[in-house]
Amino acid sequence: METYDIIIIGAGHNGLVCAAYLLKAGYTVLLLEKRPVPGGAATTEELLPETAPGFQFNRCAIDHEFIHLSPVLEELELHRYGLKYLPCDPVLFSPHPNGTAFLAHRSVEETCQAIAQYNKRDAQQYAQFIQHWDRIAGAITPLFNAPPMAILDILNNYEGENWQDLLGLLGTKPKALDVVRNLLTSPTDLLNEWFDSETIKAPLARLAAEMGAPPSQKGMAVGAMMMAMRHSPGMSRPQGGTRALIAALVKLVQEKGGKILTEQTVEKILVDDGKAVGVQVQTGQDYQANKGVIANVDARRVFSQLVDSGDFAAIAPQLRDRVERRIVNNNNSLLKIDCALNEPPRFDAYHHQDDYLVGSVIIADSVAHVEKSCAPCAYGEIPDHNPSMYVVCPTILDPSMAPDGKHTLWIEFFAPYRVAGHEGLGFKGTGWTDDLKNRVADRVLEKLATYAPNIKRSLIARHVESPAELGERLGAYHGNCYHMDMSLDQMLFLRPLPELADYKTPIQGLFLTGAGTHPGGSISGMPGRNCARMVIHSQHPLVERFSEAQSYVRSLLQSVLKTLGY
Ligand SMILES: Cc1cc2nc3c(=O)[nH]c(=O)nc-3n(C[C@H](O)[C@H](O)[C@H](O)COP(=O)(O)OP(=O)(O)OC[C@H]3O[C@@H](n4cnc5c(N)ncnc54)[C@H](O)[C@@H]3O)c2cc1C
Repeated sequence: METYDIIIIGAGHNGLVCAAYLLKAGYTVLLLEKRPVPGGAATTEELLPETAPGFQFNRCAIDHEFIHLSPVLEELELHRYGLKYLPCDPVLFSPHPNGTAFLAHRSVEETCQAIAQYNKRDAQQYAQFIQHWDRIAGAITPLFNAPPMAILDILNNYEGENWQDLLGLLGTKPKALDVVRNLLTSPTDLLNEWFDSETIKAPLARLAAEMGAPPSQKGMAVGAMMMAMRHSPGMSRPQGGTRALIAALVKLVQEKGGKILTEQTVEKILVDDGKAVGVQVQTGQDYQANKGVIANVDARRVFSQLVDSGDFAAIAPQLRDRVERRIVNNNNSLLKIDCALNEPPRFDAYHHQDDYLVGSVIIADSVAHVEKSCAPCAYGEIPDHNPSMYVVCPTILDPSMAPDGKHTLWIEFFAPYRVAGHEGLGFKGTGWTDDLKNRVADRVLEKLATYAPNIKRSLIARHVESPAELGERLGAYHGNCYHMDMSLDQMLFLRPLPELADYKTPIQGLFLTGAGTHPGGSISGMPGRNCARMVIHSQHPLVERFSEAQSYVRSLLQSVLKTLGY
C-alpha cells in the first residue's frame, strides 16, 4: 500500500497551501482530488471549447484581497513559481438608476473626490468610514493568521501597526463599546448611520451580502471590511486567471516531492483504534498515512459521510448530531453565468470608459434591492424579479484570457440551493432544471442590459451553472462556497464548532482545513497555513511552544523599542 506521512483530501487552494508548508517542514504528502483538475473553487477553465474556443473562465473566485493579508505569498515565494498579481484600479464601479455611479479607486482620496460630485457629506464620511474599518482589519488580521486558540501564535503576529490599530480602536471605553456595537449591528443599520446616498450604500450592502447573508442580518456589519480591503491591502487578480495561483502551488508542491492525484474521490477515512491511518478512494484503493489525514472538505461531510460513526461514537458521542444540526447553512448559494463576448459591456449612460471595468461591477439599486436579492434564498425563492448581481469583465485587466480583441464576462447571482415548490425535480432533486437555470440567466442578462444595452448583441456563447451543479462540482455542502455560513456565531473559535475550532478533531491524527475552518472562506490560504502549523505543533508540542514563546518575546521587545524610537 502506498504510504505517506500526510494525506490531504481535496486539492483546493487551502489543501495545496497546507501541503506546501508540510512539505517544507520535511513531511511526505499526498493530495487526493476528486475533480480532473486541482483548485476547487479557484480554477480557470476553457468552459466553452466548441462555441467559444480559447476563452478562459474563472469558474469561481476571481477577486483576491484576503490573501494579501496573509504571509502565504511571501513565505512560499510563489512569484518564483510563476505567480504574478495584477492590481485592480479602479476597484469597483456601480451605476445607479438615478444617473450617478459609485466609482471606487484604489486611493481613498480619489474615491472621495468622485463621491463629492454627487454628495459632499458622503464623501467626507467615506474617508472616515474606510479608516475605521481599515483599523479593525489591522487589529484583527493577526487573529486570522494563527489557529484561533493559539494565544502565543496570535500575540506573535502583532506588530507595531497592529497594536496601534488596536489601541486606536479600543483606547477609551466609549470607543471600545462603539466597536463592539459596530460588530453586532447589521450592514444596513451601519450604512444608514454613515451615509445618505443609495449610490454608495447599495454597492457596499451588496459587498457585505457576499458573505452569504442579507444586509439586514445583525452581526454581519463586518462585511463593511470588504470595501475597506479594496483600498488596503488592495484587490488584484493573478495574471492568467485564478488558476495561476493554483499552478504556482502545484509547481511548488511537486518540486518539494508532494504528489497530487486527480479524479480520486475519497469515500472513507480509515480509523484504527481512534487514530486516522489512511483513506479509501472510489476505486476501492487504500492509501496509508503515518502522521495524519487532513480534510479540505467541510466538517459536516467529514463526520456524516467519510468517517464511520462507530469510529468516534465512543469518544465524541454527540458529534454527528452536532455537525448535522448545529452547523448552519441557510440555503443561500450562487448561480454562475460565464459569457464569451465580442466586446465589453458599455455603460453608455454613465460616460462609459473601459477602465471603469478593471475592478468589479455591482448592479444594486438600493439597500432594499440587495435585501430582496438575498433574503428570499433562505426560504427557497429565486430573487430574479429584479436581479442584483456582481459582474466582472476580467479581460479588461488581463486580455490574455480571451482571443485577441474578445472578452469574457463573469456574473454571480444569489440563488437558493433548493428551490421551494420544485422539490424532487431537476438536478439532485433540488428543483434546478436546465430550463429553470436558463430562464433565470435570461432575466439576469436582461437586467444587465438595462445598464449596458450592447450586452445582448455582443454575446458569443454562455455557460450557466445552477447552485446545485456548483455544489456538486465543488463537493460543497448545499453549494455553499464558504463550506458553511460565515455568520458571527460560526467564526473564529466557533468555526466549524467550538470543539473542532483548532483544526483538530476527536480522532487522533484527523485534521480539518479549508473554508469551513477559521478564518473562513475566500482566497486567503490562511486555513491551510494555520492547519499546517497545528499539525507540525501536534507532532513536537514542547519544542514548538518554546520557540513560539521565544519569538513572541523577541517581537514584543522589537515593538516596544520601535515605539520608544530605538
Ligand atoms: C462562484 C464563486 C465565486 C467566488 N468568488 C470569490 C472571489 O472573487 N474572491 C474570493 O476570495 N473568494 C471567492 N469565492 C470563495 C472561494 O473561492 C472559496 O471560499 C475558496 O476557494 C475555498 O477554498 P478551499 O481550498 O477551502 O476549498 P475548495 O476550493 O472548496 O476545495 C475543496 C476541494 O476538495 C475537493 N473534494 C471535495 N470532496 C472530496 C472528496 N471526497 N475527495 C477528494 N476531493 C474532494 C473539491 O473538489 C475541491 O477541489 C467564490 C466562490 C464561488 C463558488
